[in-house]
Amino acid sequence: MTRAIWDHLLSEVRKAHTSHPGLSAFCPFPEDVREVEVLPNHIPPSDLLQAETRLAARRYFKVRDAFIAASPLARWRETYRGTDIGQDFLDRFACYCLIGAGGAFASNLMSGFVVYMPPGLWYPWHHHPAEEAYLVLAGEARFFREGQPMEVFGEGDVSVHASNQPHAMKTEDQAVMAYVVWRNGFGTPPVLTKT
Ligand code: FE
Repeated sequence: MTRAIWDHLLSEVRKAHTSHPGLSAFCPFPEDVREVEVLPNHIPPSDLLQAETRLAARRYFKVRDAFIAASPLARWRETYRGTDIGQDFLDRFACYCLIGAGGAFASNLMSGFVVYMPPGLWYPWHHHPAEEAYLVLAGEARFFREGQPMEVFGEGDVSVHASNQPHAMKTEDQAVMAYVVWRNGFGTPPVLTKT
């Protein structure tokens, strides 16, 4: 049963990834994906995602719902625990890995995550060696990238972040869900950018 939920999610993610030209150009969906065991880790924001009603999607609702369906089984990440990011962020920001460390699948070629932010949340400036692409699946957010103008991205839009390019996100009255792909250097987690 659990495996069927993960397999369904992977199938929906593969469809969304391969059918998006910009995301496929950034990183082709890998051929080497293999199953691995997940040790679930619950965090409070996963409950917010379960109850979220402000994640509108027209094209990507199936992959949105598949990420939500798998969320009780997921190993939710605690990337910023122990930093000075603040309790409100820890209580509301949610991310789990699907392909890569802690995920239900592994690949040597890329990592794939889901990120969820409820309305009215600021994800401060951060960076990491991996090159990154966010595909917005539902809702919308403001994307800030060092050296570039701020842009509001909604469903189907992609934000690409270069290696170690500081970036930040903010939600206003909508929530956002994004599928996040990392290539090159995905062994190193993000760190907050000193400003
Ligand atoms: Fe990032």
